[in-house]
Amino acid sequence: MNIVLLGAPGAGKGSQAKKIVEHFGLVHISTGDIFRKNIKEQTELGKQVEAYLERGELVPDALTVQVVQDRLSQADCQKGWMLDGFPRTLGQAGILDQKQRIDLVLNLTVDFGVVEARLVSRRVCPACGLVYNTQTYAESVCVCGERLVHRADDQSETVKNRLAVYQAQTEPLIEYYEKAGCIKNIDGMGSVEDVWERTREVLGATRNFLRAMTCGC
Ligand code: ADP
Ligand code: ZN
Repeated sequence: MNIVLLGAPGAGKGSQAKKIVEHFGLVHISTGDIFRKNIKEQTELGKQVEAYLERGELVPDALTVQVVQDRLSQADCQKGWMLDGFPRTLGQAGILDQKQRIDLVLNLTVDFGVVEARLVSRRVCPACGLVYNTQTYAESVCVCGERLVHRADDQSETVKNRLAVYQAQTEPLIEYYEKAGCIKNIDGMGSVEDVWERTREVLGATRNFLRAMTCGC
């Protein structure tokens, strides 16, 4: 099963992504995580993308598409993958369509006022990737023992820019995938567990459908 996860920054993609890949045995490909890892390690790619992430702008399509293509060509992706944070532009979506089969696009929907507040109070674990919110978790350390961080691009000004970029460049993908008939909207309001219940239902139904289509009996 190949899935694309869509949603505004702060819609909860990361939290759902973790649960989806564990439950359904998919490879998790987060372009944001790949970029941040490369920046941390100061690789050639990291140096090229650093300034874009700092400003909350998108990395150019050519570079981003190359990164995703390289990852999707690795053997483990045969068992199915979930793209988190890609595609983010119509250009990226068009190229992905030419190269890969997508079974489902999940779109997490959340009010804009809510995502802004969520991002500014978001804290992440640089070691295991768990995501927290200062309003519901007052500790400064992850359950794995690592110190939590406030991502540089989660500061208020950058957040505003990321949301504007999302509206201008990524939101049109919803209509694009609606036309293709493969998108399902999921209400992203409420707790991570509430949203997971809804997500699991939709994914379970899709998997059963795909099995029924491919099973010879
Ligand atoms: P969020 O979904 O919380 O905004 P991500 O971790 O997905 O954050 O992405 C962080 C940053 O990485 C983006 O603001 C952008 O600069 C860059 N990035 C991630 N995915 C893409 C993409 N598909 N195209 C261009 N830039 C991207
Ligand atoms: Zn951790």
